[in-house]
Amino acid sequence: MDCEQHESDIIQGLKIGVDIAIPFLGDEKTVRSTCHAEIDAGYEISLVAGESLRWLIELRRISEAIEVSGSVEGNIELECCRCLERFDFPLNLNVWEHALCVAEEDQRDSRYLDEYQVVGGELDLLPIIRDAICLAIPTKRLCSEHCRGLCPVCGANLNLGLCNCSSKPVDARLKPLLELKRRLER
Ligand SMILES: [Zn+2]
Ligand SMILES: [Zn+2]
Repeated sequence: MDCEQHESDIIQGLKIGVDIAIPFLGDEKTVRSTCHAEIDAGYEISLVAGESLRWLIELRRISEAIEVSGSVEGNIELECCRCLERFDFPLNLNVWEHALCVAEEDQRDSRYLDEYQVVGGELDLLPIIRDAICLAIPTKRLCSEHCRGLCPVCGANLNLGLCNCSSKPVDARLKPLLELKRRLER
């Protein structure tokens, strides 16, 4: 990795020249590296230079495709949906995909548009790794199951302690309702 590279430089591709590295059926190659995943508010993922994630991928040439299997592990940083604090979420996932060797004239064919493809003898691992991370992000992103979230009145993070809102007198407009409730309870 280039030392002068800025830390948040987005990795544009992880291309492996598979036609040269593993030209024959059954040929195998192991590739590994590290990266860091940046996840924006819309949950788009960019891989950047870094070491928070380690990936190890085995490539194997099979009939008309490259089999891609391996693992991605480490941490990604997510934002808690209750308290909005960022927290480290551990990832340990397996990857198992196929990239099709498609003739150049067929690459935009609708049959192959949703497939990973080997283009010009190269396989780009970036979309495969990024998609695997994307699928592993939980839909309910909580820093802890017990997260107390934010006070709806003052916005204080209730994990750090109670705010004063809960001890404030009841809004005058709600008093008649409270009276009614008490009467019904009696
Ligand atoms: Zn939280
Ligand atoms: Zn409050």
